[in-house]
Amino acid sequence: MKFAFDFDGVISEMPELFSTLTIALKSGGHEIFIVTDFDENYRNFRESELAAMSIAYDHLIITGSKQTFMQQEGISFAFDDDPEYYNDKQCVHLYAFSQAKRR
Ligand SMILES: [Mg+2]
Repeated sequence: MKFAFDFDGVISEMPELFSTLTIALKSGGHEIFIVTDFDENYRNFRESELAAMSIAYDHLIITGSKQTFMQQEGISFAFDDDPEYYNDKQCVHLYAFSQAKRR
């Protein structure tokens, strides 16, 4: 399966959890995409953050069109704190962190 993880508001909030999760998924043969709308000029910076957090992944995707990317790539499951990116039924969004912040 193809899994997508947002960085800001998701991995950044609980890096230890997502390190464990991404390592486990990748070792199980799944494909891991980090999908962020972070500035492409800071790709190296983002890669160093992911390395420092021990996040396992196959692809770092920097795009302003997350929803289009998810549909085109056929992502099975996505973790994102912003549900507005995911109107398509192929993508499941997790916005527990954004909900928790509102409480
Ligand atoms: Mg986010």
